[in-house]
Amino acid sequence: MTEQTSQTQQQNMERQMEIEQQQIRQRMIQIKNKILILSGKGGVGKSTVSVNLAISLALAGKKVGLLDIDIHGPSIPKVLNLEDAKIGSNGQDILPVEMTNNLKVMSIGFLLQGKDLAVIWRGPRKYHMIKQFLRDVQWGDLDFLIIDSPPGTGDEPLSIVQLLENCTGAIIVTTPQEVALSDVRKGITFCRNLNVNILGVIENMSGFVCPKCGHKTDIFKSGGGEKMAEEMNVPFLGKIPIDPAIVEACDSGKPYIQEYKESRTALAFKQSILQFMDLK
Ligand code: ADP
Repeated sequence: MTEQTSQTQQQNMERQMEIEQQQIRQRMIQIKNKILILSGKGGVGKSTVSVNLAISLALAGKKVGLLDIDIHGPSIPKVLNLEDAKIGSNGQDILPVEMTNNLKVMSIGFLLQGKDLAVIWRGPRKYHMIKQFLRDVQWGDLDFLIIDSPPGTGDEPLSIVQLLENCTGAIIVTTPQEVALSDVRKGITFCRNLNVNILGVIENMSGFVCPKCGHKTDIFKSGGGEKMAEEMNVPFLGKIPIDPAIVEACDSGKPYIQEYKESRTALAFKQSILQFMDLK
């Protein structure tokens, strides 16, 4: 290959990327707020927070999209009892699953043949998939797009931040244990390096309130997330206790915040995410 040919190829590639980025911009301009839900490691409740935030906003009458790009563990279809849902197409765009008339859901899980299949993809394929979710899904006009990112600070969170160009900000979910906290510091640094506004930290699984006697036990300690948020100078949004009903709700595909509206945990959820209701 001559030097000139490779230069032309490079230019064509760059032109193609710019066209695609422009298509993403056109789609994303219809969405007022794009909120990333991040965590330093898996299993801390990132998807639980994503779902309950999306449902709360939808119940408050906002137009909401929930995008699950947790490519290696897409749990949103299960949590919302949408495992058998099929996404459609109008020949040009991918049509998301409409849970209600103001809540649209898109997950890599909808594209997998079997629900127990794992996705083994390298970086470029993951990047392409995320690009498709932003560019080709017919989100329409939305007040909020809640994005459930994979844990950590690897390829996927990086791709989505770059492709979105400007997101409203990120919510970082952690648990009170030290390991999760040191991981979350990396998440904060990640956001700062990429100029992503940190909306705040949520400390999940923060103590257990006995449903019978109301006594609170700090199984994984409590308050670490708050302390860390203060040290790192980021807003602290609140503590969500361990609640067996959350596991039950997630397993049976019933959105917790809808099923247990009046519970102490639902109240804690609502307080943590209250301020996002007013984002214009
Ligand atoms: P992640 O998205 O960070 O991997 P998930 O949201 O999938 O984590 O949560 C992992 C598991 O923990 C799920 O079974 C979920 O039901 C449970 N869980 C999350 N938050 C709580 C909580 N506050 N109390 C009890 N169980 C919880």
